[in-house]
Order: sequence, then C-alpha cells, then structure tokens
Amino acid sequence: MSSLPPKVPFVNLSLQHQPIQSEIAEAIRKIIEQGDFILGQALAEFETAFAAASGVQYGVGVACGTDAIALGLQACGINQGDEIILPANTFIATLIAVIQAKAVPILVDCDPETALIDLTAAATAITSKTKAIIPVHLYGQMVSPTQLLNFANRHNLIIFEDAAQAHLAEREGYRAGSIGKAAAFSFYPSKNLGCFGDGGMLITNDAELAKKMRTLRNYGAPSKYLHTEIGTNSRLDNLQAAVLNVKLPYLEKWNRDRHLAAQHYNTLLEPLKHQGIVPIANHSNTGHIYHLYVIQITEKSPIARNLLQEKLAQQGIQTGIHYPVPCHLQPAYQNLGNRGDFPLTETLCEQILSLPMYPGLSNTQIEQVVQAIELSFDS
Ligand SMILES: *Cc1c(COP(=O)(O)O)cnc(C)c1O
Repeated sequence: MSSLPPKVPFVNLSLQHQPIQSEIAEAIRKIIEQGDFILGQALAEFETAFAAASGVQYGVGVACGTDAIALGLQACGINQGDEIILPANTFIATLIAVIQAKAVPILVDCDPETALIDLTAAATAITSKTKAIIPVHLYGQMVSPTQLLNFANRHNLIIFEDAAQAHLAEREGYRAGSIGKAAAFSFYPSKNLGCFGDGGMLITNDAELAKKMRTLRNYGAPSKYLHTEIGTNSRLDNLQAAVLNVKLPYLEKWNRDRHLAAQHYNTLLEPLKHQGIVPIANHSNTGHIYHLYVIQITEKSPIARNLLQEKLAQQGIQTGIHYPVPCHLQPAYQNLGNRGDFPLTETLCEQILSLPMYPGLSNTQIEQVVQAIELSFDS
C-alpha cells in the first residue's frame, strides 16, 4: 500500500475551510465566551436563514439528518403501521428513519437514467395504508416537483422530502425542501453544507408542524417541565449552528463550483459513452448541485466497475460507491425484499462509481481522473 497522498482525493474539506478559518474561529470563540451552547441565538439565526434560503418559512435544527426525518414524520402525524413509500436506491438512513418513526417502509425501484425514485413504480405500491412518500433528491438532483405534486395530490399522500444531499438544489422553479409538507436536511461534514460534526434540520411552511417539531426535539416539552409529547433529545448544537452561519453565505458559490466541475467531467467523458461510461443523467440543468458526481459503468465497458475502481486507486484517484448494496439486501433489512425485487436499483449498485467532487476540484484534476479511466481500459 502506498502512503503517498492521493493525486485526486474524493473530497477535500480543508480546501473549503482554510479561507474562512478565522471567521469560523471568531464565531466559535463568541459562543464559548457567551456560554450559549444549547438552543441559543446562533441556532435561531441559522434556522431562519437556512429555511429562507430554501424558500421556506420555518427551520428546526436537530442532531442529525436521520432524526430530522424520523421526528419529522412523527410531527407530520405518521402513526404506527402507516405505510411510507421510499426508494430502494437511497442511503440507509432514509430507511432507518422510517422504521424509527414506527412506520412501515415500502421500497420501490428507481429510474435507471437518473437513479431517482420511479413514480410509476411508486403508484403500484400504494395501498389503503399508504400515508406518505419520501422522495430522495439523490446526488444533489431533485425529483421532479411537478410530477411529485401530481402524484401526491392524485393519491392524497404527504410529501416528505429527504433533501440531505440537495441543499439549495433547484428544479422547475422549486428549491429542495419547498415542495412538500416538510423536508429533512443533514449537515454531516461532507454534505454540500456541512458542520464540524453531526447536524440536521427540518424545514416546513406549516407553523403547527414546526412547533410540534421544536417540542419533539426538546424532551417533548413546549415549556420547561411540561411534557405534552413523547419526545427525545435531538438538538442542533449552538456551536455547530455558529459554524453553519459562517458557511451558509458561501454555499451558492460552492454549489456553482461543483456544477462547473460536473460540466467539465461531462464534456471529457462524452467520447467514452460508446465504451460504456455513462454519467447519471441530469434532468434539472443548473439546479443539480452535484453532491456526488456518479457514472455508470455498463456492460459495454471493457472493464468492470470494481476493477476500474482498483485501477484508479493505483493511479492516485480516490472514488466511492453510493451505494454498493441496496437497502433490501442488507443483512438487517432482508424482510423488505429479495434479490430481483428492485432490479434497476440492484444493477445500478453494481455499476455505479462516484468520481472526486468538491468545490475547488481543479480542471487539471478532472482531466487526470478521465485520463486515468482511459488508461485503465488498456491495462
Ligand atoms: C446523509 C443522509 C442522511 C442522513 O443524514 P445524517 O445526518 O447522517 O443522519 C439521510 N438521507 C440521505 C439521502 C443522506 O445522504
């Protein structure tokens, strides 16, 4: 194993933090000086600012994105036994949150081009117990808002967006988190907007729902020692909110940088399409914020996905797979389906590869990645 740093790392967070280091240090110093650590001023400011940036009225900060979904579903009135439709092709946390909310997860397959939930498949999964759908705006691309709203209205379902990978993404005039009844975000460090640990938020235009969410995250207490809900302790730390307040004004620029990097990849990869290297489709133009840049290595490729990943690593190119095993094939969740139940998701999991993507990734590095892919064909 080589101990040299990779030529092109998968992500580089220090590149993002270095220019704003003193701003962040000052914000942290202030919180320490004020001793204002839980449910403080910085949190209130960030909740308002992030919700507003997403085109929504209320934000409620919680401990992580998973809690934002689980508590959010509870706040939406989801009860034990209610069925919730979600994509089989998602990060496991979407599923975990549904189970945490005591709902019954119903997985559906994805669109093979965009890797997003297939609403036609979702329609066939509806029963009299279905209460909600969780579209996951995967990789930074939103599920079509107009199609979602048509679908949810037709079937009388709640839309609860998992926007953990889609901070300020746009499509059809909507921002991520502004389509449905409520939406969940994660501020895990490597997300497009990340803090210095775990963090999450629910956003909504529904004042009552926001109020219930504030109660749920704080021991179920609307005021001290009065417990009206069976709640929990899940709050976004004021220190983390202070960091996020510093970072939020840079988010649009970082998202634009990612988009430009994706366009450069698209251009350079175009000639490799006939050799089975196909980027996951972008149907939302500049509104895709490319949390991840994912390519599919189809049967036409001279090299299989796993071997390509190995060859790239040998050339100093770090890659990832999001995600290698679908939810229903994970040991803990085998009751949710068998191999073959969600064939398009299963194929994607075997063929996708996430290339390096972060704000500050240079054109030269992108060229190195694509050259390394071409070189791996011949070796
Ligand atoms: C990151 C992520 C989550 C969970 O967020 P955490 O803050 O890690 O709990 C949920 N859904 C998706 C799609 C994610 O990418």
